[in-house]
Amino acid sequence: MSQIADNILSVKERIEKAALKAGRDPGEVKLVAVSKTVGVKEIKDAISAGVTILGESYIQEAKEKIEEIGHQVQWHMIGHLQTNKVKQAINLFDMIHSVDRIGLAEEIDKRTKQSGKRVSVLIQVNISQETTKSGIERDRAISLVSKVAKLTNIKVEGLMTMPPYFDDPEDARPYFKSLRELKGEIERERFGNISMKELSMGMSNDFEIAIEEGATIVRIGTAIFGERE
Ligand SMILES: *Cc1c(COP(=O)(O)O)cnc(C)c1O
Repeated sequence: MSQIADNILSVKERIEKAALKAGRDPGEVKLVAVSKTVGVKEIKDAISAGVTILGESYIQEAKEKIEEIGHQVQWHMIGHLQTNKVKQAINLFDMIHSVDRIGLAEEIDKRTKQSGKRVSVLIQVNISQETTKSGIERDRAISLVSKVAKLTNIKVEGLMTMPPYFDDPEDARPYFKSLRELKGEIERERFGNISMKELSMGMSNDFEIAIEEGATIVRIGTAIFGERE
């Protein structure tokens, strides 16, 4: 078996274990293999080993790979998205994890209406308030969602976050818990037109903790493809 196939097997086992430990159905947790900086050959290895969703952070890089590999798999945009790249992003991706401002949501709404291609989106929340990270601040998130809920072409399906890196993943737990609680707060607002079914949280270093706190999508790069350059 290739190293990548071996890694995928091990990540899937760990996902299953973490879900069962939390009393959850492992089938509720989707694996996004994060392939930024990873070459087409390695990505094809991952697809052969059963990966069905790939995560990319940069439009141009993703475009080249998607042209070569195609839509036999789903492609998710997990990086910061500039408003002037929305048209391309809608054509390339099945889901955009990084909607963090109303202007971006409005542009997605407008381009969706024009193209008829409907991508799913997640609202990215900067739970840790680190200034270097993208994402709407936690206390402004409900207000943002209330505005996005008025747009009729955009399809909101949940929330995404990226906590700080900790050597001990247990330290990331409060951030995951906070995102899950925010999801509950938004659900109680009963905004029309949006769903809160997805929580995209957990990376190579901390995905088991994220699953224990309710993640439905984990975004894993290093544990599958090895360290990035
Ligand atoms: C790179 C990246 C990941 C994957 O990180 P790993 O630590 O390599 O698993 C997940 N989410 C986002 C938003 C990323 O940019």
